Parts: sequence; structure tokens; C-alpha cells
Amino acid sequence: MKRSHLIKPVLDAVYPTIDYGKGVYLYDKDKKEYIDGSSGAVTASIGHGVPEIIKAINDQANKVSFVYRSQFTSEPAEALARKLSEMTPGDLNWSFFVNSGSEATETAMKIAIQYWQERGIFTKTKVLSRFISYHGITLGALSMSGHVGRRERFIPLLEDFPTVSAPYCYRCPFNLTYPSCKLLCASELERVIKRLGKQTIAAFIAEPIIGAAGGAIVPPDDYYTEIKKICDRNDILFIADEVMTGIGRTGKMLAIEHWNVQPDLVALGKGMTAGYTPMAATLVSERVMDPILKGSKMIMSGHTYSANPQSAAVSLAVLEYIEKNQLVDRGKMMGNYLIHKLSTLANEFAFIGDVRGKGLLVGIEFVYDKELRTPIKLANLVIQKAMENGLLVYPSSAGEEGITGDAILISPPLVITKEEVDELVIRLKKAFIKVDEQLRPKDGG
Ligand code: PMP
Repeated sequence: MKRSHLIKPVLDAVYPTIDYGKGVYLYDKDKKEYIDGSSGAVTASIGHGVPEIIKAINDQANKVSFVYRSQFTSEPAEALARKLSEMTPGDLNWSFFVNSGSEATETAMKIAIQYWQERGIFTKTKVLSRFISYHGITLGALSMSGHVGRRERFIPLLEDFPTVSAPYCYRCPFNLTYPSCKLLCASELERVIKRLGKQTIAAFIAEPIIGAAGGAIVPPDDYYTEIKKICDRNDILFIADEVMTGIGRTGKMLAIEHWNVQPDLVALGKGMTAGYTPMAATLVSERVMDPILKGSKMIMSGHTYSANPQSAAVSLAVLEYIEKNQLVDRGKMMGNYLIHKLSTLANEFAFIGDVRGKGLLVGIEFVYDKELRTPIKLANLVIQKAMENGLLVYPSSAGEEGITGDAILISPPLVITKEEVDELVIRLKKAFIKVDEQLRPKDGG
């Protein structure tokens, strides 16, 4: 085996070498074409090689790429913070810029704890989350995550933050059905708060639609209204982790807007720069900033690259591009079309258990038996067959057999056309046929 010095996800696997990308397509060095059906890791949401963004990169690089945030502010960083405040609901008027989704959720956690300290309350330091969740790979973010596979090795180093059940109707944790379940998954949060004591809890964090750990799990309609009421009456801040769902991915600027609930803090990443440079953000509401502005007047966090003008200029250009081309509405339309097509396709394959999602964040969960909903580990095989057929899709499973099913995410760039959705589904169907052949070998074969 040829040795490589690059640490790749699987060290002895062979990865194609990428050459270039255009729109929803990627091309490798062997000239093979792929539809970027997952926008990488749900990131490249305006597609590849967009001239307006390349121009913004060059224009900013010609001025200045880096300044340190304790020495200078910059026009792009100021404008980006203004733009995010304009484009998001309510009073999320303050932005703290970081470099990854993990840093964004971890910063949200720290700001939530600081908020209570500024108010003279030092006991509220726990952050509750849900069992099926992923909030990032750094130790603080991983402490809030329920993703068993990613936590396993580091459990002794993680904070013992309690988790509650996820609103996973396809495999209800209580074996009930909505609405007769009376939203037990939401009321469980209140029971856990009572048991732990609300004086110990700073915040509750949730992905509005569960992504990497669950395959686009959409909660029942009144779930978040109930969650927010529980948070408010127990003096607990609500953090929406919109790293995957934010910036138009689900047909609204923030996914939490589907349920008209106002978060106190929001974590953004991925689609914020659509993959052109690394940048993420923690958005903070006036309510949370108020005691900090009156108190220590600084947030105890920060990174060397925080608010760097190069990434800020890129993110600003991405947001302007999304606005100008009405990509949030477009993503919603194309998402409805994609879900419709995939639901039809589901009838043709015994192993497709559930098709779900909102906008262009769509999940397909696999089963051994449609009626019994028996989970089957199939995502990796589907991904491999899809790739062979020129389609990229994203794995989505928390690594817990029998608890979360194995699923894939389909989340192409928001710029995808109807014809490109048709082509995506054709390639996916070809992959499913191959998977089906492998699952049910022909007689005598
Ligand atoms: N939160 C959510 C909801 C995510 O989906 C991810 C990444 N998959 C993260 C946090 C972590 O982001 P990053 O990989 O940029 O650190």
C-alpha cells in the first residue's frame, strides 16, 4: 500500500482525489462526475465555483486577509453581524464569530453559563440535551452530544450532562403515537429538570431537526412550543443548534422558525460560508447580552481566527447571494419535490422504512422489515453504491443499534434545479437496485 502522510477518516481506505466543482457537480482527477447530493457535510449550500464568491474572496484578499480581533474590527465582520441580525428572527442581534460548528455550540454553552453568573447565579452550569443529538467534536460540545459512537473513547473526559429522549416518532422512545402520546418526550424535560434542580441547569440545547445523529428527524408540530414553555418557567435558556439546519437549509432561514419559537442563543456553521472558507457563529439575543453588557462587558471566549475579515467577507457574500437568488424559498420548493419523488421511490424498495425532512434536509431510514421497522445497517453500502453511480450522500446514525436506525441524509445545494433533482433520484435508484441485489442474491447466484 502506498503510504500517505495525510490522516484521512479511514487510514487504509482509498479516496478519490477531487479536481474541481461547478454548481451541484464535483469532478475527480479521473474525470468522474458526482452530484453533490449532500453538499459535502450539508455545507456547500450554494454550490461549487460561484463567481460572485470567488470575486469576494479575491477582493478581500487584495485588501487584508487577517487582523486580530483584540486589535482591529473590520468592515466585513461588522457588516456580517448586521446581516445575520437582519436575516434571523426576533432579537438575535449579537454575533460571536468562531471557526467551526463545534466552537459555535461550545461558545453558546459558555455564554449561557456566563449569563447566569453575570446575574449573580453561579450554580447554573449544566446543559441538558437529547439522547439522539450531535453538537460537535470538541470536549464541551461532545459533552452535550448524545452521539454514542463519537463519545465512547472520551467518556472519562466529558462533563456528565444529562440527556432526555428525542422526539423520534418513527421509533417513539415510549412506544406511543402522536398526538395521543401527549408529547411525553417534551414533558420528560420538565421531569428531569425537577429531579436535577433547576438551580443547576443553565440551558437546554437541541437541533431543531436532528441531522447527523438521526437522519433528519422532524419533531411533532407543538413539540418546540412545549419545550420553550418548560425552559421559560424553569429559568433555563434555549439554545438552537442550527449548525446543520440554519441558513435556509430547511426552507426557512432558521429551522426553528417552522415552529415560531424564539431561541435565546443560536449556533450557526456549515452553510454560513457554504464551505468557501471556515467560519461559524454564536448568535446571542438581547435578553442574554443585557446582563453581560451591564456586567463584565466581555465574553470569556475567542479564537485567533475569530471574526477574521477574509471569512467574514465570504460569509457576507454567501448571505447576499442567498438573498438575491431567493434560495431559501427555492430550497423549500425543491425539497418538497425531492421528498415527493423519494416517497414514491420508497414503495419500490423493501428496505426503505421512512422518508422525512424539511426543505433540502431529507433523511431516508433503512429497515429490514417495513412493517416491523426492524433496523438494518445499510447506510455505508448505500453510500458506496451511490458513489459508484456518481452520487454523494451523507451517513447519519448515532451508532446505537436498535435505538436509532441507520439512515442517510440527502441535502444537495439549494441551487439545485428540478432536472438535477430528477437526475439525483435516477442515480439513487440505481444504487438502491445494486443494494437490493446484494441483499437478496438471485437463486443459484
Ligand atoms: N452541530 C451540528 C448540528 C452539526 O451537524 C455539526 C456537524 N455535523 C456540528 C455541530 C459540529 O460542526 P463542526 O463539524 O463544524 O465542528
